[in-house]
Amino acid sequence: MTNSQPGLEQNIEKLGGYLARFRQDGIRNHINGETVTAASGETFETRSPVDDSLICSVAKGGAADIDAAAKAAKGAFAEWRDMKASDRKAILHKIADAIEARAEEIALCECWDTGQALRFMSKAALRGAENFRFFADRSPSARDGQSLPSPTLMNISTRVPIGPVGVITPWNTPFMLSTWKIAPALAAGCTVVHKPAEFSPLTARILMEITDEAGLPKGVWNLVNGFGEDAGKRLTEHPDIKAIAFVGESSTGSMIMKQGADTLKRVHFELGGKNPVVVFDDADLDRALDAAVFMIYSLNGERCTSSSRLLVQKTIAQDFQAKLVERVNNIRVGHPLDPATEMGPLIHKVHFDKVVSYFDIAREDGATIAAGGTAPESDGHYVRPTLFTDARPGMRIAQEEIFGPVLTAIQFETEEEALEIANGVDYGLTGYVWTNDISRALRFTGKLEAGMIWVNSENVRHLPTPFGGVKASGIGRDGGDWSFEFYMEQKHVGLALGQHNIPKLGAS
Ligand code: NAD
Repeated sequence: MTNSQPGLEQNIEKLGGYLARFRQDGIRNHINGETVTAASGETFETRSPVDDSLICSVAKGGAADIDAAAKAAKGAFAEWRDMKASDRKAILHKIADAIEARAEEIALCECWDTGQALRFMSKAALRGAENFRFFADRSPSARDGQSLPSPTLMNISTRVPIGPVGVITPWNTPFMLSTWKIAPALAAGCTVVHKPAEFSPLTARILMEITDEAGLPKGVWNLVNGFGEDAGKRLTEHPDIKAIAFVGESSTGSMIMKQGADTLKRVHFELGGKNPVVVFDDADLDRALDAAVFMIYSLNGERCTSSSRLLVQKTIAQDFQAKLVERVNNIRVGHPLDPATEMGPLIHKVHFDKVVSYFDIAREDGATIAAGGTAPESDGHYVRPTLFTDARPGMRIAQEEIFGPVLTAIQFETEEEALEIANGVDYGLTGYVWTNDISRALRFTGKLEAGMIWVNSENVRHLPTPFGGVKASGIGRDGGDWSFEFYMEQKHVGLALGQHNIPKLGAS
């Protein structure tokens, strides 16, 4: 591990300042404009993945806290829905301003809470602000509809916010993901109950403070910390919560669908992935290598869109893999607050154990561990960036989402074989295709089972484009107007143009 680059000590000192109030007061819930302890009085601990040290205590919300938050969100709904759109837009821009002003605090706290490297988290904080600006600007037109005249009626459509919604987020890049969900919900005119992941509660609290100071009316955004099986579950079952926007594991999505069935909950799921990066021998191999390495080892590989399967054409496989090994062994693993660090520790001991267990699974299945496959001695949850080669498509390392810095390389001979392997998993979130043959790119992307595909590129997010997956990777799309489609209902109104014939039943 590399550790002592300039900047690390200053960052640790600054972090200490930002954490002092959390250490003193803990993280409490925020319901109807009030900062409150859990109704039960219970708390849980959040610890840093860097050295397993205690960060602070966190309110352990349960059903009673969710009930109070849902009541507040219901009570605040009419005022927020009916507020002038220009006023709503102004508040959302103020939130973006405040995120930018506190970007350093957000980034440092996020790194300490999640183990993500600062080089990525400082950008993630600013992307959170961009999310608010993007949806703020679209807020005034969110209700716009169409006129669909018929011979007898002037038919108009409009969109109205669905009501109070629940937002349940995971621990990977929690700040950015929370803003990605909450910004469009607020812009649409919905009120929100947010249940952040129990492993990474810090920045959700900062976001709540920001929204409060920006003048969001009481009850419009409520924060309940706690565990999935009680707070999360109650949120998905609550009759006053009209929709659940969920980001997390596919198996949790399946549970939420069952939990929400009795109240006919509308759901939007962004779930797991086992995304292929397919490298054909005619590609720009240097760029393909850069992108393949970036898309699995950045963000500690704890990224739903990571390219966790490398499908490489046999003709170039040996050479490509040799270069890959060199790059993987060079990745700088270290303290997340060190500006030079490229990979930090994994979020939690539970997740560390899961990722490490795949080293043995790979060996047992007969794959080769070409790089990494070990965990350095440390109090933190560090693993070495890992590459499995000689893998076959049916192996567990080629099928299951490991969600760590672990790449499984599989070789293929033909385009047809590549497609079969790429599609031969339960997931379908993203795909990355590297070829300079435009016809092949069109053929391949047409048949690749994925919600988002990049050709000759890593994942470059553009907010107006649709984001989401197929198969076990999700239901629904975010981004652009698709976010509003989820948080709003279409409404049709037909106005008679004259005296058209109305059927007369019971008339003589
Ligand atoms: P997780 O499913 O374990 O937890 C996510 C959230 O759901 C947490 O807040 C948790 O408390 C809550 N939860 C758990 N059980 C619940 C229940 N029964 N009812 C209601 N809520 C419940 O996921 P995680 O481990 O925190 O996150 C990693 C997963 O998220 C990976 O699978 C990753 O691919 C996925 N992810 C997907 C996307 C995407 O856009 N597709 C983005 C980021 C992460």
